[in-house]
Order: sequence, then C-alpha cells, then structure tokens
Amino acid sequence: MTKAYDAIIIGTGQAGPSLAVRLAGSGRKVAVIERKLFGGTCVNTGCIPTKTMVASAYAAHLARRAGEYGVDIGGPVSVDMKRVKSRKDAISGQSRTGVESWLRGTKNLTVYQGRRRFESASEISVGAERLTAPEIFINVGGRAVVPAMPGIDQVPYLTNSSMMAVDFLPRHLVIVGGSYIGLEFGQMFRRFGSEVTIIEMASRLISREDEDVSATVREILEAEGVHIRLDAKCIALSKPGHDIAAGVDCTDGPPTIVGSHLLLAVGRRPNTDDLGLEKAGVEVDKRGYVMVDDQLRTSIPGIWALGDCNGRGAFTHTSYNDYEIVAANLLDGGSRRVSDRIQAYALYIDPPLGRCGWTDAQVISSGRRALVGKRPMTRVGRAVEKGETQGFMKIVVDADTREILGGAILGVGGDEVIHCVLDVMYSKAPYTTLQRAMHIHPTVAELVPPILGELQPLVDARAGAGSAA
Ligand SMILES: Cc1cc2nc3c(=O)[nH]c(=O)nc-3n(C[C@H](O)[C@H](O)[C@H](O)COP(=O)(O)OP(=O)(O)OC[C@H]3O[C@@H](n4cnc5c(N)ncnc54)[C@H](O)[C@@H]3O)c2cc1C
Repeated sequence: MTKAYDAIIIGTGQAGPSLAVRLAGSGRKVAVIERKLFGGTCVNTGCIPTKTMVASAYAAHLARRAGEYGVDIGGPVSVDMKRVKSRKDAISGQSRTGVESWLRGTKNLTVYQGRRRFESASEISVGAERLTAPEIFINVGGRAVVPAMPGIDQVPYLTNSSMMAVDFLPRHLVIVGGSYIGLEFGQMFRRFGSEVTIIEMASRLISREDEDVSATVREILEAEGVHIRLDAKCIALSKPGHDIAAGVDCTDGPPTIVGSHLLLAVGRRPNTDDLGLEKAGVEVDKRGYVMVDDQLRTSIPGIWALGDCNGRGAFTHTSYNDYEIVAANLLDGGSRRVSDRIQAYALYIDPPLGRCGWTDAQVISSGRRALVGKRPMTRVGRAVEKGETQGFMKIVVDADTREILGGAILGVGGDEVIHCVLDVMYSKAPYTTLQRAMHIHPTVAELVPPILGELQPLVDARAGAGSAA
C-alpha cells in the first residue's frame, strides 16, 4: 500500500523535527520517520546526557576543592554513579519525550517508527508499506566509528552510546581518542573517581586546535591525574584475564596500558550506508556523507540532506542551522547558504573551550597580516574570584581590514563569552567596535575589549616562536 505525502523527513535529529513542524504549519501533509530514539544523538547519547554528566563531575570536583573556599564538607567526597545516571536519564528522557509529543501533537504530521529505505527518488519503504513525496529530507545523523585496530574483535568496548548505560565506576577507563568526545568523558570519569588513560595517535590532543590550546588542555587534564599517551599510531588490543590491554609499544613510556574498560572515541561516520541512497541516485562522498550544495540540496532535485550526514557540520547548532537555511529558502523565499555561517563550537571539559572563526594556523596559511590579543585567566578578575584561573583568552584580527578572524576562550565561562566575539564577526563590524564596548563588571567578558587594545603581531607557533602574546 502506498501513502502519498507532500514531504517526508527521515530521522528526528536536530533539524528534522523543527523542519517537519514548519512544513506541516505551511499546510503540507508531512511524514516523519524515526528508527530508534526521538531527538537523535544530541538528546539521547550526545550533548544533553554528556553535559548533564559533566555537571555532576563538576559538582564532585568543586566539593573536593571546598576547603579552598573555606567550606567544610565534613568527610571524603564520593560519587554515586547510579544517581548520576538517573539524573542524566531524567533530563535526557524529558527532552526525548518532549520531541516525540511535539511531533505527535502537530496537525498535518504523521509519525512512523522503524528503519526506512529509499526505493526511488520519491519513494520510501518499510516492509510492505510505501510512502511517496515530492520533497524528501534526510536527517539521519551519524554513529561512532569502530576502528579496525588489531584485537578489536577480541575485547569488549564502549562507545558514546553504550557509555550511557554505565551506572558504575570503571576502575581504570582507557580511552582511545584524544579529541572532543574522549576528553569530555576522560575528565568526567576522572572526577567521578576512575583512573583514566587517554591514548591519542597524533602528537598532541585535539590536534585541529592551536598548539597553545592543545598544550593548556593537556596541562588541565594532567593536573587532575588523567594519564595521556600521545603518538600512539600502533594500538593493539588484547584481553588478559578480566582486564583489557592496549599495546602502544611505538610510544615513549610503558608499552602496554592495562585497564578495566575501554572507550572508543575516534570519530563518527554517517548513517547513510543502509538507507538505499543508490536507489534514489543520491550521491555520497567516499566517506559516505551525502553530497550537498551550499543550500543543502543533494544531487537529486527534491531531496535535501541536513545535519551530520551531509558532512558540512558535526554539531547540534550546525544541524539546527541547516534546518533554518532549508526552511528559509523553501518557505520564506530566502537564499540562505551554509557558507554564510561562521565556524563556532565548544569543548566541554572544565574549564570549557569556546571557539569561533579561524585557528591561528588557518589565519597564517591565509597569508593575511594578523594581530593577536591574549591574556591568561590568572589576569581575569572574575576567574580569580571564582578560584578557576586555568586557561587563557585569545582573539585574532586582520591588521589591514580590522576584521575579527577568530577567537579561543579556554577558561571559566569560555563557552558563553565566545559569543560576544562571534556576534561581532557576524555583524562584520571592525574589532574596534568590540574594543570600545563597555562590558559589565565583574565578568569574564569584561576582559574582551581590553585584550583588543593589547594586540601584537601573530607569529607562526609551528616555526617554534610561540604565539605572539
Ligand atoms: C558524546 C557526544 C557529545 C556531543 N556533544 C555535543 C555538544 O556539546 N554540542 C554540540 O553542538 N554537538 C555535540 N555533539 C554532536 C551532536 O550530537 C550532533 O552533531 C547532532 O546530534 C547531529 O544531529 P543530526 O540532526 O545530524 O542527527 P542525529 O541527532 O544524529 O539524529 C539522527 C536521527 O536519525 C535516525 N535515523 C538514522 N537512520 C535512520 C533511518 N534509516 N530511518 C529512520 N531514522 C533514522 C536516528 O535514529 C537518529 O534519531 C555530541 C556528539 C556526541 C556523540
């Protein structure tokens, strides 16, 4: 039996639900299909649950430091992982049911559950059922990569998804992958009380970031007792008894790391392999990402791809921005483009890193003459008052055009403060506009204007000179 709709949305990640509701509101008859959990990665296994757990870890950390603030806890701090998990489950579950009831309660919108596949460019199937529509939107997201490293089939491992079921304290959590997800889990479990070792193949953590960011993040984690092994290009896994061993004999230090649990955090891959895209003629790149143009249209007219599966972003806000672009262009007569947005994201270790625009390396390779303002958090009054002085703030500007090119705020409130830099970038105002702004005292953000009055030439840290600050 075939059911005809005006629009079909596959996946209820960060773009699909909002788009479905807007399309239904425009009078279209809409079908939304979700194969598993409403709300997708962010709600169920990504941002929301991890940041909820980061908050529990922060509470434990601050409680251990209570004496520094003149506060007596009256005994050792212990963490009840079952309660950490139930708090996380409650917050994430509320979000999931919120998405589901929003969709089910929307007029003109029908919700289907199950795994769907393309049968042609306008037809989707599951079992005997067929849905057709002239407009189809793919929002299927991604999942954790399981790397083909020696021994991977011999050992039990966790990913960001299975970590969500952990309601106990791993004795020693070994994490393969020293990037955003690995670092967040690493610091969190260290604060819960686990021994943690992070193994990274590159010569530094979060190697896409500037060297000063990587080095300071490493200092922050090592100060809390997280073990870090870099340059581990030849990881081999085995299972001696109840433990898990990661052989890294290509690096300095002991050739084997033995832990109780293993977390793989080595990247994500798009959920496009079982979608039947070949039957629709939708092109994917060699890593499986759906190829889209600047307005998120695929190679087949009438089919769009939004969110992580199009390879144009890997964040909740990029997926949501994809929805805004498609909705504006389709329903409001707009001509919004992906290339209009400015790169921005945060790393939620504590203190967090807020980032926007280019890294120093990108600025240097652009050949522009640039200036940088930088200040350690030890010279930010609000950070001193809070007793959280790790990290630094840095803003890079074009010496000739006075545009802001990028910023990194690694410090207390960095995930929020970065937006005052980002919004001036969007406004295309010169950095002097921000430099002359009067900010509220005492805040971390009040130091952003003065930094722009202390600019120095940006030099290439890779040349061994260090950032000019
Ligand atoms: C541990 C972790 C922490 C993160 N933290 C952050 C953060 O702090 N900030 C941030 O911005 N981003 C974060 N992210 C990234 C963020 O979660 C993703 O970028 C975002 O969820 C992508 O959304 P999406 O719309 O592409 O799809 P997803 O949220 O991945 O949802 C896709 C949906 O499609 C469904 N689906 C897939 N295939 C089919 C099919 N064939 N039929 C029907 N349904 C299907 C899936 O079940 C899923 O519900 C994190 C990710 C992880 C893993």
